[in-house]
Amino acid sequence: MKRFLSLFAFAMMIMSMFACKESEIVAENPFFEAVWETPYGAPPFDRIKTEHFKPAFERGMSLHNEEIDHIVNSSEKPTFQNTVLAYDNSGEMLWRVATVFGMLSAADTDDEMQALSAEIYPALAAHSDVITMNDKLFERVKAVYEGRDAAGLGADEKRLTEKIYTSFVRSGALLSAENKEALKQINEKLSSLGVDFGRNLLAETNAYQLFVSKDRLKGVPSGVLEAALAEAKAAGKDGEYLFTLQKSSMLPLLTYADDRALREEIYKAYLKRGNNDNENDNKAIVAEMASLRYQKAKLLGYDSYAHYVTADQMAGTPAAVYELLEGVWTPALEQAKREMDRMMPMLEKDHGKAANFESWDWWYYAEKVRERDYELNEEKVRAYLSLENAKGGIFFLANRLYGITLRPLKAPTYHEECEVYEVIDQDDKPLGALYFDFHPRASKQGGAWCGTYVDQSYKDGERVCPVVSVVCNFTPAVGSKPALLTIDEVETLFHEFGHALHNLFADVKYRGLAGVEGDFVELPSQILENWAFSAELLKQYAIHYQTDEIMPDEMIEKIHKSSTFNEGFNTTELLAAALSDFDIHALTSADKVDVAEFERKALNEKRGLITQIEPRYHYTYFSHIFDGGYSAGYYFYTWAEVLDKDAFQAFVESGDLFDKATAERFRREVLSRGGSRDGMDMYRAFRGADPDKNAMLVARGLVREEVDTLADERVREMPRVDTREQARQRAERSRQEREAARQAEADAAATEQAE
Ligand SMILES: [Zn+2]
Repeated sequence: MKRFLSLFAFAMMIMSMFACKESEIVAENPFFEAVWETPYGAPPFDRIKTEHFKPAFERGMSLHNEEIDHIVNSSEKPTFQNTVLAYDNSGEMLWRVATVFGMLSAADTDDEMQALSAEIYPALAAHSDVITMNDKLFERVKAVYEGRDAAGLGADEKRLTEKIYTSFVRSGALLSAENKEALKQINEKLSSLGVDFGRNLLAETNAYQLFVSKDRLKGVPSGVLEAALAEAKAAGKDGEYLFTLQKSSMLPLLTYADDRALREEIYKAYLKRGNNDNENDNKAIVAEMASLRYQKAKLLGYDSYAHYVTADQMAGTPAAVYELLEGVWTPALEQAKREMDRMMPMLEKDHGKAANFESWDWWYYAEKVRERDYELNEEKVRAYLSLENAKGGIFFLANRLYGITLRPLKAPTYHEECEVYEVIDQDDKPLGALYFDFHPRASKQGGAWCGTYVDQSYKDGERVCPVVSVVCNFTPAVGSKPALLTIDEVETLFHEFGHALHNLFADVKYRGLAGVEGDFVELPSQILENWAFSAELLKQYAIHYQTDEIMPDEMIEKIHKSSTFNEGFNTTELLAAALSDFDIHALTSADKVDVAEFERKALNEKRGLITQIEPRYHYTYFSHIFDGGYSAGYYFYTWAEVLDKDAFQAFVESGDLFDKATAERFRREVLSRGGSRDGMDMYRAFRGADPDKNAMLVARGLVREEVDTLADERVREMPRVDTREQARQRAERSRQEREAARQAEADAAATEQAE
C-alpha cells in the first residue's frame, strides 16, 4: 500500500511540474474519463492498453482513500446517507478498472498482464484491508447499524446497513490492532499465493503438447481428427495431430481413442498438473494457503475456514454442507460401481481377464456402453448442435419465458472473436449488453464463466444497464465445418447464459445489495440447463448443419433415456472435489498438510472412493478454490442443484415448460433482486415452500421413478419415489394457498369497504 501512495504522490508531483502534460495523460488513459461514450458504456477496449491499468489502479485507490477520508472526517452525526450510502458509492473508479482488469486477465491475458496481476492483487488486498480496518470509519458504520431500527430506515436501506456492518466485522473490524496487522499480512500473502497458483497452472497447461501420428488414433471420429490436425499445423507440425490438456481437446481422446496407452499418457499429464516437482509446482502453495486460511478464520473467531465461509451462506454451518454432500455420496458411489460393472466385460474382452479397470478407461467404455445400450452416438448428436443453433436455442428460450429479445450490437471488443448483443425487454426498454467469447486460445484460462464489465446500478434515479460477458472454451469451427458442440458444451452455454440473465435482470437500488450468497449463485444458471434438452426446445434449435433436418424424435428419446447414464460417475467425481475442498478448509490446525496424502486419506481411505474415479479436480489444479472465489465453496454447485431442480418443478407442475406466469414470478422474486433479500426468502417467495432434495436425486438417477430395465438387480432394491404424486400434492397445496390468499384479500377489501 505504501508503495502505491508514494508512487501516487510522485506522480502528482510530476503532473504539477508539467501541467501541460496532464491533459494528454488524461486523454490517453480511458480509465481517467468519467463516462465512456460507447454503446451501454461498455469499456472502450479498442483504446485500452495494458499500460493504462497501473496508473488507473493508482488513481482509483487514491480517489477511494479521499472519499473514505471525507466520510471519516465529517463533523456530522453518522447517518445512513453520510456514512453507509457514501461508503457504498465510494471507490467507483477503482471498481471500474478492477472489473475490467479482472475480466481481461482471465479472458485475454499475456505475460505483461500476469506480471501486473502479481503486483496489483496484493496491493488491492492491502488497500481493502486499510479501509475495512479503519477504526474511525467502522465506528460511524457501527453507529448507523446500532441505530438502524430507531432511524426508521426502509427495507433496502436497513439491509444495506446490515450487510456493510457484517462485511466489516468479517474483515476484522472488531479485532485488536495487533490482530488486525496479522490479518492484513495473511490477506496479502493469500492474494499473492493465489496469483502464483494461477500462473503455475496456466504454464503447466500450456506447456503440454501431445503430437500423435494418425496410426495411433483409431476410433477417434473425423471431426476430432480435423481439429487436432489444424492445431498441429498451427503449432508448426503439419500432418501430425495435436492434443492438449484443454478439456475440449483431451476429453475426445479419452472418449474415443482405442489406443489405451495414449489415453493413459494424456490423462496422467492432466492429473499431474501443478504436481511435477518443477518450478510450476503448486503443492507447497496449496498447503500454505490452507494453513493461512485456517489462521485467518481463527483470528476472526471461527473454528475453521469452512465455519467462516458457511456462516455467510444459505448453508450456515459446515455440518449442513457435510449432511448434503455425504448424503448424496453413498448412493452416487454405489451407482458408479454398478456403472463400472457394466463396462468391465468390455474391458476384459479387449485386454484379457487379468486387466484392471483404470481411470483412463472410464470415458472410453462409458461411451461404448452408451452406444450399445442407448444407441446414442454423440458425434451424430453433435451434427445438430452447432454453436449457432445452440445460441438460437437460448435466445428463443429467453424470449418465450421472459419476452426479451437479443439484437447484434456494434461495440468495441478486446478480441476479434467476441460477439456483442443488446438485450431488449418486453416493453422495448434496454436491459443491458451481452458479450460472448466462445473458443479456446492460449491467452484464455480454461473453463467457462460469466462476469460483468459494468454492473447494474442506479444513478440519479435512473437504472444503469449492466454489460455482461460470457466466456467459454468450446470446440471451435474447423475449415468450412461449423463449431459442433458436445452435449456438455450445450449445457454449459445454457448455464452461463443463466448467469447472464441474472445479471441482466438485476434491478437493485444499491451496489452493496447486488451480491447473493455463494450457494445461491448457481441457481439462476443451473435452472436453465433443465430446458437445454427438453423435446420442446430441441425442436426449435437442434437442426442438422448439413441437411437442415430437425433432430428426430428417436434421437431425442435416446438423449433422454441416456441422461442419467454415467451420472453415478459424474456425481462421484463432482462430490469428491467438493468434499476435498471442504475437508482441507475444515482443518482445525495451522500445520501444513501433505496435500496428496491428505486427499487420499479423506477420499479413498475414509470415504471409499475407488481408484478408477479421480476427483474432478486435484488440489494442484483446483483453481476454483485456490485462484477463484470458491474456497470451501465447491459445494455451492450441489447445494444450488437442490434448488434448481426443485425450482424447475414449478414449471413442470404448471403444465407448460414455458409458462409465462411462473417465469414472471421467477424473474420478480429471484432474478431481479440481487442480494436484497436472503436466498432462502427469495426461494420461498418463488416456490411457496422450502426446496426439496428429491428432484435432484431423481434427475441424477440416484433414486428412481421407474426401474431401468437395463440396470441390474441392485437397482431394483433402491427406494422408489413417486415424484409425480409428490408434485401433484405440492401443486394442490399451492393452489389451496393461493385460494386462501385470495380469500384473505377479498375479506380485507370487504372490511375496508365496511369501514
Ligand atoms: Zn456457474
